[in-house]
Order: sequence, then structure tokens, then C-alpha cells
Amino acid sequence: MESKISIINAKIALASENVDLAFSILGQYLLENSTDADGWLLMAQVAKEPQQIIDCLERVAVLRPDINGLRERLEVVKRGPLKYYNQVFEIIRGYGQWEGKANELGTYAVNYEIKNDINEITALLNTTKKQQRHLQELEKIMNRDEKAFDLIPLDKNFPTYDGELNLYLVTSTIIINIMISQVLEQYKKLVLDLEIRLEKKLNQGKKTSFPNQRLPIPDDVKIFVWKRDDGKCVNCGSQTNLEFDHTIPVSKGGSNTARNIQLLCESCNRKKSNNIV
Ligand SMILES: [Zn+2]
Repeated sequence: MESKISIINAKIALASENVDLAFSILGQYLLENSTDADGWLLMAQVAKEPQQIIDCLERVAVLRPDINGLRERLEVVKRGPLKYYNQVFEIIRGYGQWEGKANELGTYAVNYEIKNDINEITALLNTTKKQQRHLQELEKIMNRDEKAFDLIPLDKNFPTYDGELNLYLVTSTIIINIMISQVLEQYKKLVLDLEIRLEKKLNQGKKTSFPNQRLPIPDDVKIFVWKRDDGKCVNCGSQTNLEFDHTIPVSKGGSNTARNIQLLCESCNRKKSNNIV
């Protein structure tokens, strides 16, 4: 059966660097010519997903069992780069889950009981650091694996083919490694973003959870307290160097209401602050 779509068209598209067109032509070509090893080899070169590249090369391995070393090399690819590629995606999927948890916690911390949540958020930040260490480990393993590829002598393993196959296999390995590094970059960015966002939220929480902190005591409250405390230090009765003192410090959630404010002389106020700190 004569095919209307020629593999030549795909090669021309590839030569003019139109990878998408080559991919589309080959897709149709291989529907009708599924036993053409050359077609699958070309497809491996234009495929975008690592698993697609592997699938194409698996086909070649079946169609051309005479090609020495192809099967072995594919096994190395599957054990090495592809495995880590999938592993990195696993991490990212897991990351998505605890990113949601982190946002939830951050919002909660800003609005409600920040003290309890700070511990949880701190724990989460530590998890982030652990993930970063995991990432470094992953990169080390990948570098080691890349060296393992160098140990396979290409010429010895592919003596029966025209050398083109080596090019495809090396290309596919490079593509997979580039994809892994892209995923890793993306992952690093996500981790970094989360860390920045959480720290921002923690700082926000510190500022907004006690809104009285920087507000002055209203004049009517001052007048009321002065009258109530009879213009004297409530501790020693002194009438000099008087200050308005928050019974519960603002930093501990005390309010600016008369109930929480008393008259203290400077010396009693310092003694009190020293005892609290
Ligand atoms: Zn006093």
C-alpha cells in the first residue's frame, strides 16, 4: 500500500526546524507505516515528552532487533533520567498539596491566633528546607547518572547501524535532561515563592494582630484615668513624672481602654517593665 504522506516531508520539516510540523506529519505517516523503524527514530527526535521518546525507541528495538545495544541503552535511560523525571513530578504533586495547607495556615495566622500558628508555619518552613535538601540529593544522583552514560561506548554498542541512531539516542538523553532541569528550576521557584510568601505573612501577622500597638491613648481615656487614679501613681502615690501605663502590655494584646490603663510614676513604671521583660 502506497502512503500519500512521505517520510521525506517530515525530514524537510525537521531540516527547516519546524518540529511541530514534523511531529504532525510523522504522526500521520506512522498510522499507515507502523513498521518503519526510520519513522519511529525520527519521531523519537521530535517527541516532546520523555515517555514518548522512550516509546518510540522501544518500537525501534522491536522492529530492529539486529541493532546491538539499543535495548540495553533504553534500560539505562529508563533506570536513570526518566525515573528521576517522574520522581521530580511526584515531588511537585506533593508540593501542591502542602502549598495549599501553607496558604490556609498563613491566612489563619494573620486573622486569628498567630502564636499557635507560628509554630506550625515554622515547621512548614523547615519542611521546605528539607525539600530543598532532597532536591540537592536528586541533582547529585542525576549528575552521577549522566556520568554512567559516558561509560557506555557508543561505537562498540552500535556497530551495525549508520551512526544516525547514536545521534537520536544522545539527542533523546539530552532532551530528557533538559526537561528534568526545567522541572527542577520550576520546583526551586515554587519552593522559594512559598518561603517568601510565608515570611511575608508572618510579618503581616505580627503587625496586624495587635492593631492598638502604635495608636495613641485617646484623650478622653487619659482624662478619665487621671481623674479615676486621682492624679497619683497607683503604686507609690507619687505626683511627679506620671505616665499612662498599660496594665497588660500592648505587645501582649492589651487594649487602649481605661480598664487597661493606670497612672504610674516613671520609676514604678520602669520597675514594672523590667519585671515583665
Ligand atoms: Zn510610683
